[in-house]
Order: sequence, then structure tokens, then C-alpha cells
Amino acid sequence: MRALLTSEQIQSRITEMAAEMEAAYTGDDDIHFVCVLRGGFIFMADLVRAMGPRATMDFIAVSSYGNAVRSTGEVRLLKDLDTGIEGRDVIIVEDIVDTGLTLTYLQDILRARAPKSLRTACLLSKPSRRLVDVTVEYVGFEIEDHFVVGYGLDYAERYRNLPYIAVLQE
Ligand code: IMP
Repeated sequence: MRALLTSEQIQSRITEMAAEMEAAYTGDDDIHFVCVLRGGFIFMADLVRAMGPRATMDFIAVSSYGNAVRSTGEVRLLKDLDTGIEGRDVIIVEDIVDTGLTLTYLQDILRARAPKSLRTACLLSKPSRRLVDVTVEYVGFEIEDHFVVGYGLDYAERYRNLPYIAVLQE
């Protein structure tokens, strides 16, 4: 494994992203974060701790590679939100945007629930892999086409607890 982004780089970028989000949402309304399980959990934990008291949160789980993310764009919802999002300012929190199929699906189903606003934050983006044009308002880092692990991202469920991002050597 080769380190790609250190914990310090990740933390400092997350602090910037949290400040950018708080500045974008004026007023007293909550910013409701929807974490995409499982990969988004560490990014979510650090992001909300870098924010003031307006952050509320919920969790959603979708299938990942190896089972139901097919080239058709079919994604399976494994766990739905526990609370409604109608009329709320929602930010989807995802680990990485690769082909864009998962996020397109999530944005579609959440938008149908009539939030006041819907934006997306991804720690990582691999633009060269995109199959669909998906809008991501907050991107932590753009990376080359490598398979990465750590900081929530796994390979066969391992390495999620690595405190930095590493490239898994082919
Ligand atoms: P997309 O639907 O192709 O954009 O894929 C998004 C999902 O694929 C992410 O939420 C990850 O779970 C997984 N994924 C994509 N690239 C990587 C990677 O480099 N390492 C680990 N998981 C990845």
C-alpha cells in the first residue's frame, strides 16, 4: 500500500469544507447530513465535528461494488433514513464518487421526498471514471484512477479503519 493522502491533509481539507458549508447556509435552520453507509461514516464523523450546533444527521445504506451496482446503474437500497427530509436542507455525505451511478440514484430518491435543498459532499472524486454526469457541490480531493482504501473506504471490508487514504497496489 502506498499513502496518497495523510490524516493531516484530510483533516485540514474537512475543516475548510465545513466552513464553506456553514457559510453557504445562512439563517438558523439545521443542516441535515445524510451519511451513505458504510464508506461515508468516518468522513461524516469528522465533518460534523468540524461544524457548529446546526448539524443534524441520519444514515442510509446502499449496496456497493461486487453485488448490485451494475452497469445499468441499478443500486439497491439496504437501509432507508429514519426521519423525513421534506422541507429540510440536506447534504448527502459519501466517501467517493467514481462512476457516479450510486449518487445519481441517491439524489433521485431523496429529491423525490421534497427537501428544501439537496447538495452532495464527497471526500474523494475520480473524474476520469465518470459514466454519468452527477453534480457534487463539495469535493474534498480529486484523485487519479486508483483503487483506494482507508478512512472509511474498504477492499473486501478491510482497511476502513486506516486513518489515511492509501492506494492498494495492483
Ligand atoms: P460509483 O457508483 O461508481 O460512483 O461508486 C461509488 C461507490 O463505489 C463508493 O461509495 C464506494 O463504496 C465504491 N468505490 C468506488 N471507488 C472505490 C475505491 O477506490 N475504493 C473503495 N471503494 C470504492
